[in-house]
Amino acid sequence: MKNNQAFILFALTLLQGCLYVSAEAKNPLQAESSKLVSTQFHSGNSYGKRAKKPSNIIIHHCGGILSHEKMKEIFCDQSTKRSATYGIDQEGKIAEFVEESRGAWTSGSRKEDMNAVTIEVSNNENGNDWKVSDKSFESLVNLCTDICLRNQIQELKLGENLLIHSMLNEETECPGKYLTDKMPELERRVNQNLLEGKDSVKKEYKKFLNASGDNFNGCWMPVFSG
Ligand SMILES: [Zn+2]
Repeated sequence: MKNNQAFILFALTLLQGCLYVSAEAKNPLQAESSKLVSTQFHSGNSYGKRAKKPSNIIIHHCGGILSHEKMKEIFCDQSTKRSATYGIDQEGKIAEFVEESRGAWTSGSRKEDMNAVTIEVSNNENGNDWKVSDKSFESLVNLCTDICLRNQIQELKLGENLLIHSMLNEETECPGKYLTDKMPELERRVNQNLLEGKDSVKKEYKKFLNASGDNFNGCWMPVFSG
């Protein structure tokens, strides 16, 4: 009998442990990467783990019309010495190539890339202004909002914590004229999302809040109070 009681106690402890782990896994504060991604690849083209959360976002364009598969060929091939945290295709789908907790080989500067989440956006035209599709741009707004929320970035400031490749290296025109001209709009819309709480990312976390019930520690509550 004693053995049975001990076993039940052991089983309950184990069950409690499992519940605790599953609640932890669902907590967005523990999440290292965006939940907006449709595909995850695991590129080794990385500087390794960051010492602290990223405080900047650096925008790049692909310099071509690239699918996620094509991006994977480039970003997961060590000889190219290229990668990015996220890649957005011309359908607006987001793929993760390097975990957000690691610095990706994107901007040609270890210091900058270790401090930033880097995003490569596929063009939908080759050359000219290097346009990107409206879908890609909408995804970029949502992804940047999500990155800010999870990394406690209160506001984006163009030229400070919102950067484009050409700001770091005057020899490149990346991310092309079209996206460069859209940067003030990106900055304004992400900041508006962060202030007003109308974006889809917050809705997703709201759903999470409702689903997780008592297990949720409430850290995200103030974000939705407005
Ligand atoms: Zn670039």
